[in-house]
Amino acid sequence: MNKPSTKDSKSTTKSLLVQGYEVVIGFETHAQLSTASKIFSRASTAFGAEANTQACAVDMALPGTLPVMNVGAVERAIEFGLSVGAHIAPRSIFARKNYFYPDLPKGYQISQFEIPVVQGGSVEFYLGDEKKSVRLVRAHLEEDAGKSLHEDFINQTGIDLNRAGTPLLEIVTEPDMRSSAEAVAYAKELHKIVTWIGICDGNMQEGSFRCDANVSVRKPGEPLGTRREIKNLNSFKFMQQAIDFEVRWQIEQIEDGLAIQQATVLFNPDTGETRAMRTKEDAADYRYFPDPDLPPLVVAPEWVERVRAAMVELPRVMAARFAADYGLSDYDATALTQSQATSSYFEAAAKASGQAKLAGNWIMGELSRRLNADDLSIDQSPVSAERLGQLITRIADNTISNNAARQVFEVLWSDADAEVDAVIEAKGLKQMNDTGALEAIVDSVIAANAKNVAEFKAGNDKALNALVGQIMKASAGKANPGQVNTLLRARLG
Ligand code: ADP
Ligand code: MG
Repeated sequence: MNKPSTKDSKSTTKSLLVQGYEVVIGFETHAQLSTASKIFSRASTAFGAEANTQACAVDMALPGTLPVMNVGAVERAIEFGLSVGAHIAPRSIFARKNYFYPDLPKGYQISQFEIPVVQGGSVEFYLGDEKKSVRLVRAHLEEDAGKSLHEDFINQTGIDLNRAGTPLLEIVTEPDMRSSAEAVAYAKELHKIVTWIGICDGNMQEGSFRCDANVSVRKPGEPLGTRREIKNLNSFKFMQQAIDFEVRWQIEQIEDGLAIQQATVLFNPDTGETRAMRTKEDAADYRYFPDPDLPPLVVAPEWVERVRAAMVELPRVMAARFAADYGLSDYDATALTQSQATSSYFEAAAKASGQAKLAGNWIMGELSRRLNADDLSIDQSPVSAERLGQLITRIADNTISNNAARQVFEVLWSDADAEVDAVIEAKGLKQMNDTGALEAIVDSVIAANAKNVAEFKAGNDKALNALVGQIMKASAGKANPGQVNTLLRARLG
């Protein structure tokens, strides 16, 4: 099997130590694939139906039924592999993972074991302004199990098989992450990739994107410590809390001279604590073997190329294009491709204004600050990309200053009908374009501030700022600071 390598990949990254310990994290994520029907049957995958109304004979494991591979699930796995630069296995194998549980009527889950369809690849993202890369071991196709419903009012447990057979892609990383913040940033980036390419709806509340965090600690330079696996983290907030708690707990154990037992643990959001639910099974406990009901999954190169050709532009590719076409930094281009909505807003604003850089700055600055404050996503912005583009046009053609533009933006934010030019007019925000009048102000300020003038002439460049400030004040903020600077320097020689 494709085991994660134990060699340390993080030689280039400085470690963040917690009480002298290095934190090591690897993720297993289950992304529910957005197919209309199940992975091996024709039953619907729609969420929220009445119990057992979407489970057919195959999902219920009635004798004599056979699984039939859903091609749509395979294509989504291929799309994912291409998005993360992975190898698509030309021939992969389905295996039976055997265990006993009431929500698993067959007594085994169909999964992939020794040869998964997606192998290797990596996920890249920024943590603050540091670029990170987490290596993937594999991504394999498997079916979901049903659900136990604990009906407390009749003191019974019911089984709902609607979810049984829902297609999942399990995405496994190397133990490359070194902090809870890095783990959350990885999970967010992975979430962005699967939703961007549209293979998963990403709904964490409904369980469409569930993360298991494998956590261990060690003294720097020591071999990997024993890990505990925190199951089913379905919010980014809980993810961070759970890992932080787990790290503190493990360090405490070790400091108390106790060994960490490999275990599966659950996070309780009410107490903020993790708690062991069972000791971890080994692969051997599952008695994996190839499923004789399913032939090997053969993916011809032509199929991979067909899928590639039909895919949307990937965030990485789009970011590179933004950097090249608009002269943006790598960091800004990445920020502007945080979501499809952000990137299309940016492109529309850049087009409307012809000022890509300025548009990018406004989107990452004022607009996102306002969106955050009102808890809105960019596609809910009261200021459309076209409006912002018009505003930026007025900054670029020197009609208004940046400061004035912020005032106009506030009006646009609260009044969807407001027109940029009308607001500028009504608020009297037009910059002074009459050179003669500006020259007069400049001259009078020079005359009244002999000390600053002398200091500037003596080589103190900062003295110029004081003069600019005086002129801006005298013009009631309507002078163009750039023009003021030029005029002043020309006057003072
Ligand atoms: P299993 O087969 O038991 O699921 P794997 O070897 O496939 O275990 O690893 C599962 C996950 O745990 C992977 O994401 C891997 O990177 C991570 N992992 C493995 N060892 C450690 C460790 N010592 N500390 C943290 N994470 C680990
Ligand atoms: Mg595993």
